[in-house]
Amino acid sequence: MSLIVQKYGGTSVGDPDRIANVANRVVKGWRDGHKMVVVLSAMAGETDRLINLAKELAEDPDPRELDVLLATGEQVTVSLFSMFLRGQNVPAASLLSHQARIYTDRSYGRARIIGIDTARIREELKKNRVVTVAGFQGVDEVGNITTLGRGGSDTTALAIAASLKADLCEIYTDVDGVYTTDPRIYDKARRLDRVSYDEMLEMASLGAKVLEIRSVGFAKRYNVPLRVRSTFTSNPGTLVTAEDEEMEAIPVSGVAFSKNDARVTITRVPDRPGIAVRLFKPVADANIVVDMIIQNTSIDGLTDLTFTVPKGDLKETLEIVNPVAQEIQAEQVLSDESIAKVSIVGVGMRNNAGVAARMFDAMAAAGINILMISTSEIKISCIIEDKYGELAVRVLHDAFGLETPLPQKR
Ligand code: ASP
Ligand code: MG
Repeated sequence: MSLIVQKYGGTSVGDPDRIANVANRVVKGWRDGHKMVVVLSAMAGETDRLINLAKELAEDPDPRELDVLLATGEQVTVSLFSMFLRGQNVPAASLLSHQARIYTDRSYGRARIIGIDTARIREELKKNRVVTVAGFQGVDEVGNITTLGRGGSDTTALAIAASLKADLCEIYTDVDGVYTTDPRIYDKARRLDRVSYDEMLEMASLGAKVLEIRSVGFAKRYNVPLRVRSTFTSNPGTLVTAEDEEMEAIPVSGVAFSKNDARVTITRVPDRPGIAVRLFKPVADANIVVDMIIQNTSIDGLTDLTFTVPKGDLKETLEIVNPVAQEIQAEQVLSDESIAKVSIVGVGMRNNAGVAARMFDAMAAAGINILMISTSEIKISCIIEDKYGELAVRVLHDAFGLETPLPQKR
């Protein structure tokens, strides 16, 4: 007997037929003798519908009230789901966040889970019930309803799985796993049988949308075996797990791609202590995440400084940086939104030399100019002109032979 946490996304519970279909999967697990905790998202499109509804009545909806509203989406699915199970004579109980005791801070709309008191969930499991828990929401210390941010149900599921020390957390979605790259960009993309937590974290932060990034952080920290799979097939999906030697033998596991960044360049910046902090501190204070930063060597005490921010934050970044640039007597501030970021990710990079050279070689052969480069232990990212983005993905996928699975002992 195992304790299994399953999470079903919006499309998996998008209408009554789908709810019934998913419920049958859960019933099977329960009949096989497993303890089942099921975390649900709102029906597909429901959270957007609620946001739009709010905006019809308030230009800038109050964050506390907005969370009360958005939390209703998941209340609908957990109750319908449990109702269906009970109709099939399967004991079930739905729990909202205060009942499941999922405690968060008070950052409405992007709350962080600070702890889960699992006593109530355990009590229900002891009664042999299937426990359905509303995803995406929590309560703060005085009981205000909070939401975790878009896609937050994944985080609910992993946080519960970690707290319960579940044997497995399965995330059911509309894709059947984690791919070497986005199959819509390259039809040679291949589903990975396994991927490490760190690779998944990099891929999620680079824009692979299968899992919400915070959920992967929970999985890693608490070592929760995590499986991403599709509701609509019986395919086993992808296991996200701790890395092992086999994974380390493969230099590159995937190619990620995003068009979410914009580039800002400040020319002829005086090169002296204190300048970087004057520029970047106010950007950080505005909660804008700067990704890559490049400073050239200076000539005559002047240097160019280039960095990237999310496109959606570009306008605000420029409003912050322009006056500072003037104060420090830099020459000008330029920006560019027509860029893309392609990245290769793999834990095997740590001990395989020449991965970067191979990447640059492949890009050069395709005539793609690299504008910026950044690296981490297990990732190399290049900023390029966005018109080359998809070509770069294909070229890199080929260069690292990602379409052919390596022979794996198992
Ligand atoms: N319903 C929420 C959303 O659409 C949370 C989730 O689906 O994970 O973002
Ligand atoms: Mg989702």
